Amino acid sequence: MAKVHIFNAGPCILPKAATEATRKAIENFDNTGVGLLEISHRTPGWERIMSETVQLWRDLLHIPENYKILFLGGGASTQFFTVPANLLNKKAAYLQTGVWAKKAAKEAKIFGETEIVASSEDKNYSYIPKNYTIPTDADYFHITTNNTIYGTEIKEDIDCPINLVADMSSDIMSRPVDVTKYALIYGGAQKNVGPAGVTFVIVREDVLGKITDRKNLPVLPTMVDYRTHIDKESMFNTPPVSAIFVMHETLKWLKDNGGIEWIQKRNQEKADLLYNEIDRNKMFVGTVAKEDRSLMNVCFVMAKGYEDKEKEFMEFAKANGMIGIKGHRSVGGFRASLYNACEIEDVQALVDCMQEFEKKNA
Ligand SMILES: *Cc1c(COP(=O)(O)O)cnc(C)c1O
Repeated sequence: MAKVHIFNAGPCILPKAATEATRKAIENFDNTGVGLLEISHRTPGWERIMSETVQLWRDLLHIPENYKILFLGGGASTQFFTVPANLLNKKAAYLQTGVWAKKAAKEAKIFGETEIVASSEDKNYSYIPKNYTIPTDADYFHITTNNTIYGTEIKEDIDCPINLVADMSSDIMSRPVDVTKYALIYGGAQKNVGPAGVTFVIVREDVLGKITDRKNLPVLPTMVDYRTHIDKESMFNTPPVSAIFVMHETLKWLKDNGGIEWIQKRNQEKADLLYNEIDRNKMFVGTVAKEDRSLMNVCFVMAKGYEDKEKEFMEFAKANGMIGIKGHRSVGGFRASLYNACEIEDVQALVDCMQEFEKKNA
């Protein structure tokens, strides 16, 4: 098979070291003679994987002890209602930067008053709103740091006068994060830290247990209450064993190679390479405000005058091994996701394709 270059938006490409270690563990986990898909989550070997995975998170992101790290099921979408269930006493504030953010705010409305502080829906979410005021009477302010579909990103940890909550599904572990600026961070693992099936939650413990005057669901169902999972170290019920294992191997790969500082530099190089080509090549044009460009999801379309070449480029890229570059239907064109495990060689291959296509057609 010819070399393929995976740019899928999620589930993401994973490091070879992680998939290889998983393949071996599926055959024989920790020299037990039992495969990863068949082990009990109560075996000592598994408990070691769990605690090492938590430690990898702590080490990589410098997460202080008063923050708890949970590995749950249900995807980021389940956190859309779990977050307000645990934190929304009276009112929540949301920054609407895309459909994921919108979906998150919709769930918050079930629990209480929800204010959309600012939205970029007027321009199809092609920028990050600025100069908005965060209401100080809200219980928390929710942001989506990377907007996977549109390719915009809040690349710095913002100052927030109230509890800050972030959906970091698609840029967690891609750059340094000052965790202490957040009350809670969550996301699905499948964009940057593992396969589908496990969701991470990083929560500052003191923000929990404050639901006192909410009429709707004042007592939380056991599984919805973060404190259940904190008490049992994410093993109140059967954890997603195999997905956590792959996450463990993915983070080990990240740490062994130099951690967040290393990956940020590499991610910046990859994004620069592709954005520079988009800006140089007369057949293509980027879709978002330059200052808000995501390092993870690069969105572009055919430039004016070349719109009819879209299908042709897609086929040309496919014939050259590019996988997953079709843009989301709400943006169109192309989207190349340059998650952590994507190599500079993959991006170079895409850039070569764009240059060759320009030579033939422009
Ligand atoms: C993919 C994605 C989600 C949804 O994640 P699931 O795990 O599929 O529920 C939520 N937010 C963002 C930013 C995403 O990229």
